[in-house]
Amino acid sequence: MIFSEELLKLAAAADRDLRPTFEKIEATVRENTARVMESFAAHRVDAACFAPSTGYGYDDRGREVLDGVFADLMGAEAAFARHNIVNGTHALTIGLFGLLRPGDILLSVTGKPYDTLEETIGIGGNGAGKGSLADFGVLYRQIEMKDGKTPDGAAIAAFLSSPEGERVRVCFLQRSKGYLARRTLSVREIGETVSLIKSVRPDVFVVVDNCYGEFCETAEPPAVGADLAIGSLIKNPGGGIAESGGYLAGTKRAVELASYRLTTPGLGLEVGATLGQNKEMFRGVFYAPHTVGEALKTAHFAAYVFASLGYAVEPAAFETRSDIIQTVTMGSPEGLCAFCRGIQKGSPVDAYVTPEPWDMPGYRDPVIMAAGTFVQGASIELSADGPLRAPYTAFFQGGITFESGRIGILCAAEEVLKSCGKKTAK
Ligand SMILES: *Cc1c(COP(=O)(O)O)cnc(C)c1O
Repeated sequence: MIFSEELLKLAAAADRDLRPTFEKIEATVRENTARVMESFAAHRVDAACFAPSTGYGYDDRGREVLDGVFADLMGAEAAFARHNIVNGTHALTIGLFGLLRPGDILLSVTGKPYDTLEETIGIGGNGAGKGSLADFGVLYRQIEMKDGKTPDGAAIAAFLSSPEGERVRVCFLQRSKGYLARRTLSVREIGETVSLIKSVRPDVFVVVDNCYGEFCETAEPPAVGADLAIGSLIKNPGGGIAESGGYLAGTKRAVELASYRLTTPGLGLEVGATLGQNKEMFRGVFYAPHTVGEALKTAHFAAYVFASLGYAVEPAAFETRSDIIQTVTMGSPEGLCAFCRGIQKGSPVDAYVTPEPWDMPGYRDPVIMAAGTFVQGASIELSADGPLRAPYTAFFQGGITFESGRIGILCAAEEVLKSCGKKTAK
């Protein structure tokens, strides 16, 4: 790969200036890797755990051990991770349908949830007639974050104490910013919000959409009181190795209720053939702390480079992170498309194709996506996407090796410079 002199100078400056930031990431990776290895040892992970089961999948030791490992890593009483949970939305749907009953209120306390959940919940008539929560008489209310920064404790407490609030059964938090211009919550902030909710209504379940957050810190939401944390195995906890899947982790009661939705009321976690997928899931979660570290480094590098070119970035280059998402606000459709073209060019797979915006199921606006991944759609691998709506923000994440992620970012910078040049206004 040949980059301009200017870009190479900028990359060298980023490498130098980000060194202390990278050392902090490496400390987190060491601690999380130790947690993984301790858990593997405690659960006696061995080759028998990798044996495929078929049919009903009774007595699949690997499946049970993997569940125990996920519980440990999430600081939870119980968990399940399954290759046949098709994505994060499916995992979240299992959790929400497991806990909510007709007449209950689902209260989102971090504003609008991720786009794909609109149909699951039935927000604004989406998902109507498809068996959304709304179809089953589950009501939905939402409380915005204060200035897009922190959950609004006073408003949450007031709603929960109101006559209507008595019907709240699930409070929902999204850790990561997703496709919104808001801050990502740290695990400490999630813990504070859980405590506040439980102080008013100890009987309410707190569910956290943990997508993109796993292993960015050394603790996860169940360790600070969340009843369920839910995520996708083709993001952080699959380590770039799991081929498909999702997980739910939390209290015994919440996980049990969710398990009846995963399979059937009664069967729960007793069944489910793993068909030879266990090894990739074990290997994936083993690599996950390291891979997440690589993705975090790539994000810091991207923030440094694009901020230097005058583009607005969030989080800032040296800011501590609680998820792997980096946004770069391109300000124009051309800029967003150029950014994605560059990421695609700098990917290990499909580097020769040109991404175009398209209408994706579950998303309201056309979305442009760049992903040259080994696992289809895996966003722990280098990937960028953004809805085609102002201010044309590229949401970028992943990079399973920092070295390749760094190349991807430089390709993106080069494409953007070619199409739009530097931003000088900032
Ligand atoms: C990725 C993601 C989801 C789920 O998306 P899938 O594509 O279904 O895996 C949900 N919430 C957030 C915040 C996400 O980042």
